Amino acid sequence: MEDCIFCKIIKGEIPSKTVYEDDKIIVFMSIGPATDGHLLVVPKKHIVTIMDMDMDTLSHMVTIIKEKMYPLLKEKLGCEGLTIGQNNDLGQEVKHFHIHLIPRYQGDNADVKYDHTKVSPIEEVFAKLQ
Ligand code: AMP
Ligand code: ZN
Repeated sequence: MEDCIFCKIIKGEIPSKTVYEDDKIIVFMSIGPATDGHLLVVPKKHIVTIMDMDMDTLSHMVTIIKEKMYPLLKEKLGCEGLTIGQNNDLGQEVKHFHIHLIPRYQGDNADVKYDHTKVSPIEEVFAKLQ
């Protein structure tokens, strides 16, 4: 898709630090890393949110994370954990589906902090979900 920064990376029109690639997906380093080795797992097809992702590609992405990326991050960077994140619509800066892989290290300060004072009582929310 024109004007999509990740499509441009996939087409090789702008540079990326790619660590894995096959016919369906590409994995490259985030330019705004939360920790050392923050990777983005990206389908080659231009899809915006998880709602439009096909299960074959999604499952392939998870397989590559499990079998290749997390082992790579552990072996090469010595991370002790992996936080996986994925934004859809609000909070999604790049409108091309991607999964964040954030390697975790002792004392890295990368825990997601929520403001528990800004949420409604869980009973109220649970009632809405019925
Ligand atoms: P999100 O807010 O979930 O859409 O995250 C967008 C991610 O894309 C962030 O980690 C950015 O640092 C990253 N990003 C944006 N532009 C580029 C780029 N040209 N190359 C690599 N990562 C990028
Ligand atoms: Zn795209």
